[in-house]
Amino acid sequence: MAAKTKAPIDFACPHCGATVSVEHAGDMRNCPSCKQKLTRVTQLDQLLARWWEPRRWRADLVKPNVPYLIERLWTANGQGERLYTGVAPKYTNYDIFRNMVTRLMIRGIDEGWAELTFPSEPLAEDPQYVLTIVDSERFAEGVEKLFPEVDWDEPVSVAVAEAVSAESGAGKKQKKAKSKKR
Ligand SMILES: [Zn+2]
Repeated sequence: MAAKTKAPIDFACPHCGATVSVEHAGDMRNCPSCKQKLTRVTQLDQLLARWWEPRRWRADLVKPNVPYLIERLWTANGQGERLYTGVAPKYTNYDIFRNMVTRLMIRGIDEGWAELTFPSEPLAEDPQYVLTIVDSERFAEGVEKLFPEVDWDEPVSVAVAEAVSAESGAGKKQKKAKSKKR
């Protein structure tokens, strides 16, 4: 009956094509064949493609991909605008800012300072992924490098820290009833 839900998920190793079985999506595994790491971003990429496959004719859906999903996660609840206002880069509009920070976040997932939590059923109709910054200092450093023209004095760093804490507030720690600007 429901015994099927715990079946491992098979991914394809992006380096050699071998099948890598993962018990729970998001668990890190090394490819049994070439020993390279099957990253979370790779898993996400393949899961989104698989999720899309049976739904590709639906006019009400947008084809998801890794940047699309990650951007939606980190900009949710006005966090994107808040971060943009806080950093206030001189030569970058919000569209470009979003792209740059999204790429930074994707790198952060692979580097481990951002944590992507996978839903238990990634192929269900509305899978809920959660993105949490676990090392806000490394995130702030990354943002700083993207916008060298910004004067990184106290207020800017505080703005970044606040954006990040609001972000984790929207994720795992929301049970703490932090009713900060949501
Ligand atoms: Zn491999």
